[in-house]
Amino acid sequence: MDIVAGIGAVSSALSIAQTLRGIDKSYGDATYKAQLAELIVALADAKLAMAEAKENLASKDKEIERLTLAFSTKSSLVAGEGGYNYLADANGNAIGYPVCPKCEQVYGRIMQTKEHEHSGKARCPACSDIYSPVICYLPQGTGYVTKQDKETAEWNASMSRANSASYY
Ligand SMILES: [Zn+2]
Repeated sequence: MDIVAGIGAVSSALSIAQTLRGIDKSYGDATYKAQLAELIVALADAKLAMAEAKENLASKDKEIERLTLAFSTKSSLVAGEGGYNYLADANGNAIGYPVCPKCEQVYGRIMQTKEHEHSGKARCPACSDIYSPVICYLPQGTGYVTKQDKETAEWNASMSRANSASYY
């Protein structure tokens, strides 16, 4: 039952109440009681419609809140490698994996993807789309701009350790 049906129920309750007021005593108890029963049904319908309308409003408020948040987050996104948008740290630098382009464009929600299988591949936790290759930006102060830089450096370090070890 929607708000229009609720208004309809209130209208019929009103007209029944008017009928009741105008009822001649000569109609007798039976007519009076039947009208009263109709009145109660109409009021119950109206109450139900109001309760549902209240729920609908609450869920719309939530949706507005979500969209407002997504909108303000969207304005702080920064463009990064591969044409992806990224969340930004306090200094406006891209951080972590990109936000899911599908969720952003189709659903208007800002959803940061997570690493999937290896560091160059990310998956959206909401729509499950997979993006590859992607860059993961590390927080400043870690010594590396991206997770991939860090992995390459670590790989090279372990290779040179392995190479120098083979001399012995
Ligand atoms: Zn997504």
